[in-house]
Amino acid sequence: MHKINSENVSAVLQMCAQAKNIVITGHRSPDGDAVGSTLALSHYLRAKGFENTVILPDDYPTFLHWMKGNEEVQIFDANTDKGEALIAQADLVFTLDYNDLSRTGNMADSLRNSEATMVMIDHHQQPSDYAEVTFSDTTSCSTAQMVYEFIEAAGDVSMIDSEMAECIYCGIMTDSGSFRFSSVEAKTHRIAAQLIENGLDHSKVHMAVYDTNLLDRLKLVGYALSEKLEVMEDLAVAIISLSKEELDKHHYRAGDTEGLVNQALSIDGVQCAVFIREGNNKVKMSFRSKGNFDVNEFARAHFNGGGHKNAAGGAVSAASIEEVLEQFKTAIKGYSSQLELK
Ligand code: 5GP
Ligand code: MN
Repeated sequence: MHKINSENVSAVLQMCAQAKNIVITGHRSPDGDAVGSTLALSHYLRAKGFENTVILPDDYPTFLHWMKGNEEVQIFDANTDKGEALIAQADLVFTLDYNDLSRTGNMADSLRNSEATMVMIDHHQQPSDYAEVTFSDTTSCSTAQMVYEFIEAAGDVSMIDSEMAECIYCGIMTDSGSFRFSSVEAKTHRIAAQLIENGLDHSKVHMAVYDTNLLDRLKLVGYALSEKLEVMEDLAVAIISLSKEELDKHHYRAGDTEGLVNQALSIDGVQCAVFIREGNNKVKMSFRSKGNFDVNEFARAHFNGGGHKNAAGGAVSAASIEEVLEQFKTAIKGYSSQLELK
């Protein structure tokens, strides 16, 4: 495990100087932190004179398409041959915002087979040991904050222009619930302040991410809340599930259900919430908790997933949404002593 300090950061920059092909990667179903942190690092390295390519496993919601560099991001699933070639040719790979190569979907095998030196920058719990340099800070609110700290440790804060700042801010804002989660520190606000001093238009970022809904999306959210939200009997557990048919009916697009699980968690007294969504060949789950209930442990133990104590995910393949719903209810009842509805 490595600390983000000037010595380690300059060693990594030295690797960049020697590398011929630098690739920067993020996790599957990229979120604001995955896209923001990879693009911010990409812009920074380019500003230092180090050419690089950002490769993400699959496409991400349109509300993240406004960031500088979006057009140049290689989507692995959209052009697998090109993605495989880029990874095979890379001699230095940055792995951002994920703690295990399995989090990169179809790209994982290419990364496992790669002989490139790997540098991890990530804030998820229990990082795997695959990188030569592992910057892991599980207390950090976001990987984007760690990218800022990386740039700061290099003495390069003055190189952060408004577009780089937007990418960093987007990652911090989306992963911290707009600066509300307990992972936000005084330092997080200091970083935001510095980004504004460097020319960031923070309300532009909030508007681009949160005020660009389509009518279909809001109707889907309305339907989920009025028809599909349930609180389990005698348990402080709320559930929303949406089948493929229900999603199709509302012209579901990636990202449309982002934040829905937090609405379920916001019910007074509820300590754990799950959102279950039927995909093409798997059922995806998002877990959230308030207080002590550890959804990272829960997701690891029952749904082949993980994440953080209060926000985690998992997936079940080859099962119907009804089966997964039942599996969840059975599993969570095993924790009823921790999840009493008061
Ligand atoms: P979300 O519910 O927003 O998809 O994910 C919440 C958190 O859990 C994120 O930090 C994400 O990286 C992590 N996560 C989501 N899905 C999975 C999964 O299938 N496996 C693991 N290990 N982590 C996940
Ligand atoms: Mn993150």
